[in-house]
Order: sequence, then structure tokens, then C-alpha cells
Amino acid sequence: MYLKSLEIQGFKSFPDKTVLQFGEDITAIVGPNGSGKSNISDAIRWVMGEQSSKSLRGGKMEDVIFGGTQKRNQLGFAQVTLVLDNSGGLFPAMEESEISVTRRYYRSGDSEYYINRQSVRLRDVMELFLDTGLGKEGYSIIGQGKIDEILSAKSHERRDVFEQAAGIARYRNRKEETERKLGRTEDNLVRINDKIAELE
Ligand code: ATP
Repeated sequence: MYLKSLEIQGFKSFPDKTVLQFGEDITAIVGPNGSGKSNISDAIRWVMGEQSSKSLRGGKMEDVIFGGTQKRNQLGFAQVTLVLDNSGGLFPAMEESEISVTRRYYRSGDSEYYINRQSVRLRDVMELFLDTGLGKEGYSIIGQGKIDEILSAKSHERRDVFEQAAGIARYRNRKEETERKLGRTEDNLVRINDKIAELE
């Protein structure tokens, strides 16, 4: 599995459609300070579902949209598409040898997600990457300061990193979701029993 390409449009310092093709070997992105190198890794984390604007070095999610310069007006939406190679079957649920994930975000706050050009929910994107080692919480993207953060993290936060790596995160997420559903069902049962008592 490797990243095949990244298409960025209207994201941070990339107002025009920009396509980066990656090979199977190592790719290094070089450029002067402030030229947008980190914005590229931000775009990768963003398309994988990152919801924290702080992690994306912004104050609010709107900050990922090209904000304009003296010569150019700001844009109304940001869009990033990541194409991944799946010929090794890293994504067992997907038969295609190539998987594209797209995220679009409008200034109005509306978000759209696509997997292989099919409209999906954020949750589907998160599920796609769970246990692959990729994804916004994955250990495959190490941002500036991340190593220090892991070393100084509390033990339960560090455990999250190992759980993600060990493939436990998917089950923990499902367990939490099921517990929330159980809680709602218990509330409903209490309400129904109250109604029955009223009628008796
Ligand atoms: P360094 O080597 O110093 O870490 P870098 O190459 O990683 O720099 P980035 O941090 O990726 O650079 O890019 C910073 C640039 O992106 C700044 O010039 C900033 O103005 C620009 N930028 C960030 N968000 C937006 C936005 N929403 N609209 C327009 N430009 C933006």
C-alpha cells in the first residue's frame, strides 16, 4: 500500500487545483519556510477525517479554506482527494485496486465525503482507515512535536496509540457506540414503564 496521489484545491495555501503524484519509493517535499510543505501533510490528515482545527494549525475549520491574498479573493470551499493503492488488499472490505477518498468543506459549514466518488458519511471514512495504521489517529503520520507529545503523554493517552496500532480501536469504538445505544434503550424502557404505570 502506498499513497498514489493527492489532489488539493482551495485548501490553505493551494487555491488552484494541485496534483502531487507519489511513487512507491520515498518522496521528499522540499521548499522554503512558509511555502506550504506542512499544509500538504495537513491536507492528508484532513481528508482522512481530522476534525480538530487545532491539529490542523487553525482556529476554526473554515481556516482550511484558501483565505485570499492581496491579489486573489478567498475561495468558498476546500477540496482534497487522496488516492491510495489497494493492490495488496490493505482495505479488505474494498475490492478495487485503487481507493480514492475526497473531502469537501464549504464556508457555510457543510461537509461532503466521498469514497471512490460515492457520497459517504464521515463515519465511513473513519471506518475505512481504522486498523490500517493510517487515519487521523494513525501512527503513520508524525507531525512536528508528535514524538515529544507521545513521550510526555499520560499513560492512558499513550495506550490509545498502542491500541490503534494493535487493531483494538475499531472494537473500542463499537463498544462505546453500543453502550450509548444501551443507555438510550434503558431511558426509553423507564419512560415506557412510567406510561404503563400511569395507565394501570
Ligand atoms: P516551515 O518550513 O516554516 O514549517 P511550511 O513550508 O511547512 O513552512 P506551511 O506551514 O505549510 O509552510 O504554510 C504556511 C503558509 O500557508 C503561510 O504562508 C500561510 O499564510 C499559508 N496559509 C495557511 N492557511 C491558509 C489559508 N487558509 N489561506 C491562504 N493561505 C494559508
